[in-house]
Amino acid sequence: MEILDILILGSGPAALCLASELAKQDLIIKGISTKSPNEKWENTYGIWASELEELGLESLLSHRWCETVSFFGDGENKKGDTPTKHNYDYGLINQEAFQNELLKKCKGIEWLNETAKDIKEKNKLSEVICFSGLKLKARLVIDASGHRSNFVKRPVQNEIAQQAAYGIVGKFTSPPVNKEQFVLMDFRPNHLNNEEKLSSPSFLYAMDLGNETFFVEETSLASYPALSQENLKKKDFTKDLIARVLR
Ligand SMILES: Cc1cc2nc3c(=O)[nH]c(=O)nc-3n(C[C@H](O)[C@H](O)[C@H](O)COP(=O)(O)OP(=O)(O)OC[C@H]3O[C@@H](n4cnc5c(N)ncnc54)[C@H](O)[C@@H]3O)c2cc1C
Repeated sequence: MEILDILILGSGPAALCLASELAKQDLIIKGISTKSPNEKWENTYGIWASELEELGLESLLSHRWCETVSFFGDGENKKGDTPTKHNYDYGLINQEAFQNELLKKCKGIEWLNETAKDIKEKNKLSEVICFSGLKLKARLVIDASGHRSNFVKRPVQNEIAQQAAYGIVGKFTSPPVNKEQFVLMDFRPNHLNNEEKLSSPSFLYAMDLGNETFFVEETSLASYPALSQENLKKKDFTKDLIARVLR
């Protein structure tokens, strides 16, 4: 059986970033993933522009906002409505361009369309067993299979706080945020009733995508139990956002 230097599990951003760096070394590397590395990523990735600039990758931004603000007040009066200015540009990554950029750098790495079922250690080597029955041996296995990995042993199985978000892209009867504005966190609670105010906090993450289209997302950063999509959607409703969506 071939012995690999490195076997990477997954083909998401973490797996491709690791693979693109490791491909520069003289190593025998393979990847296995439930999805093809060419399959389009589903998530929206936002980032501070300077983080991409440091890597010389700012051309991968599909949108860039200079007016970046958050609201931490109670929203009740002018003072409670004053935005905190971040004075940093924020951007939205063009996933397709980012994915292609990483894939270009992964030259020579073969990805097998397999799902890892088990990992065993044998004679200082790791053996990965796939659901198809395929077995692969490697000196090092890197698990980049995402937050639901079967191979991460958590000390506590229950009571793990999770992030949750409910977002929509659409045109609105009136703009949910100012034109050309990016709102990182709008925590103003004045649209909530007393019971909702006492529940786990969430905030609005919103941006003007141009062409009268906006992205709005109600986000709970960490909560146990995780806030449900219905609950988050309800908060958008009370903010009157969903009611204002045209399409
Ligand atoms: C709506 C939403 C918005 C987000 N926005 C942002 C953001 O703006 N900025 C940000 O930094 N993060 C954001 N995130 C978080 C981001 O999605 C994750 O941090 C990121 O996708 C993690 O990348 P990953 O490569 O670790 O895992 P994933 O993207 O989950 O990829 C896991 C890969 O492993 C494969 N896989 C899974 N199990 C196996 C297995 N057993 N064997 C083989 N392959 C397997 C999957 O097919 C997949 O290819 C967002 C997430 C969501 C849901």
